[in-house]
Amino acid sequence: MQKPLTLQLEELGPFDITGNLPAAKQRWLEWRLAAGYSGAAKLLTPPEGNLKLSKLSGMTLPNYGLTLAPAVASGNELCIWRSPECTSSCVLVTAGKATLPSVRKARVVKSQFLAAHPQDFVLVLADEIRKAQRKHATNMPKAMFAEDSIAVRLNVASDLRWERIAPQLFELHGVTFYDYTKAPASQRDDLGGRYHLTFSVSERPQSEREAVQWLERGGSAAVVFDTKRGEALPSTWNGYTVVDADVQDGRYTDPPGVVAGLRAKGSGRRLEAGGFVKKGIAT
Ligand code: SF4
Repeated sequence: MQKPLTLQLEELGPFDITGNLPAAKQRWLEWRLAAGYSGAAKLLTPPEGNLKLSKLSGMTLPNYGLTLAPAVASGNELCIWRSPECTSSCVLVTAGKATLPSVRKARVVKSQFLAAHPQDFVLVLADEIRKAQRKHATNMPKAMFAEDSIAVRLNVASDLRWERIAPQLFELHGVTFYDYTKAPASQRDDLGGRYHLTFSVSERPQSEREAVQWLERGGSAAVVFDTKRGEALPSTWNGYTVVDADVQDGRYTDPPGVVAGLRAKGSGRRLEAGGFVKKGIAT
């Protein structure tokens, strides 16, 4: 069986953010043409193109997201730590635009390009991040985020260790990088605070213990509750303060050691509380 994609890429990498960009762009164009498209497409979804990521509260940066095809949808395993319930209720497959076959196909093609031409992928990705950063650099809320003008989430629908695959990405100027992950704290590296990671609690028995390990290190953890839309989330979970993460996706604004509370969405609403979805009562 093929290794999960993150392990394949970590073995081949790390990949540089400088190199022959025109050749990389040409290969991306040819890849898209071979898949039946008439031209290349951006790898990153801009803030206006992603409802969840663009939920701005006035406190967050413009969000750019890299949405690949989750789980094994592209033929490679992109979520090495996924659980059965998160897979079955994955909102990246079961809700919103992801229900459209055309959107899913584009994500699969993008994921397969990453697997086949990782160095080209990283060059094109770094170029898009630089351009987005320059575009927003004049409007940045300097008081809150020092020099950063955009936020980038590389794993909107994947769980790849970008800190190992392309660590140079995190040296790009003016960018806040953040993600959710299902990996235990020992398996991820926040690169000294340059990559804000939020642990995503699953139904696995060890998952709550792993969440506490992230929280104790000053990291954050996301918990999905059975709380209905419009209703208040519990104020605490396992003794830790819960913030409403449905308001905006900018987890990098959360104080250290808080729980990001989410309401179940898509087919997750049909899951029995007690597994991946937790009971919305204070604990
Ligand atoms: S780890 Fe995240 S992206 Fe992957 S299947 Fe689970 S919910 Fe979906």
